[in-house]
Amino acid sequence: MILSASEIKKILQHIWEIKSDHTFFDLHTHPFEIIFRKFDESVVSSDGTSTQGKVTYEPPAIKDEKLRDSVIHNQIRTSQTRPEFLLVWLKKKYRFTGASVFLDQMKLGAIDKALLLPVCPSSQDYEKQMKSMITLFSDKAHFIFACSIPNQIEDNKISQYLKEQIQRYQVRAVKIHPNISEINLKTSQGIERVESILQACNHHRLPVVIHGGRNFLLPNKQAAEFACIENLQKIDWSITTSPVIIAHAAGFDYSSDEFRDRVLPILKTMLAKHVNLSVDISALSLSNLETVLNSISADRIVFGSDALYYNIWSEITCLYFALQRQKFDIEKWLIKILAKNPEKVLHQNQE
Ligand SMILES: [Zn+2]
Repeated sequence: MILSASEIKKILQHIWEIKSDHTFFDLHTHPFEIIFRKFDESVVSSDGTSTQGKVTYEPPAIKDEKLRDSVIHNQIRTSQTRPEFLLVWLKKKYRFTGASVFLDQMKLGAIDKALLLPVCPSSQDYEKQMKSMITLFSDKAHFIFACSIPNQIEDNKISQYLKEQIQRYQVRAVKIHPNISEINLKTSQGIERVESILQACNHHRLPVVIHGGRNFLLPNKQAAEFACIENLQKIDWSITTSPVIIAHAAGFDYSSDEFRDRVLPILKTMLAKHVNLSVDISALSLSNLETVLNSISADRIVFGSDALYYNIWSEITCLYFALQRQKFDIEKWLIKILAKNPEKVLHQNQE
């Protein structure tokens, strides 16, 4: 299904009206490409943008948008898109990054504040990535920093590590990406690792965002399914009383049937069992997004765009479109998903 640029502009205008003086949050953005690019500090330039190659930056513009009807994995399976094109697409998305690139996106999408989620690769110096993020996104009025826990930090040192990250970089959330950091949640050691992180986050009252689903594009095919719902279910999320967000509603790279039949029943059991759990709606196909809106309470959903992989303005438009099509009270849902719920997630550690 395609929305025309003029339809999108109308939707965005209504979103601005609904927003009024509320603060709208995007709780799922990445400052750097996380899947393929080995982080390279030399790309960071002094004007606050990071760039690769000689191409000139052009601000984003609203254009006709095809609403995602299938997930990446399906596109490959049905050969609509060849894997090598997807690689180029992913890298292209991060040709430019930094505060001004994000602010251009945020302005179009009615977003005031973005939570930046850096992701630790399984090995490699992660501290450089943190430092570059701080340099490129120094605008505190619009950006909130998360951090990841490098695998080299022992379980009993995580709390100390977080203390330093908070002091040094004012981090306010922790990102866990089992598929990329290669935390094997099929094993008891992997489960213990995540539970140790949760314990430390509880101590510092930091919310957690954990990837939920598969990543078929990852070079390590074994790790591609570490964060699938069957593994996430084994973790005791109530170890922390701070909020935990299951990213992509645990549906990353799942078809509509798989999401409805395999992911959702377990996800609902987990949400019923652990009161601190909620989901973000980033990178979902339109039909999986509609399934989430129809099956999960508005109080347990937060907005995430997965920028810069996806455009913030198109993701918020897609949410609006889904709410409209499912005949929900758009205003009530938008205020909850974009303002009230994210505020609760982030501000619980602020007193
Ligand atoms: Zn993401």
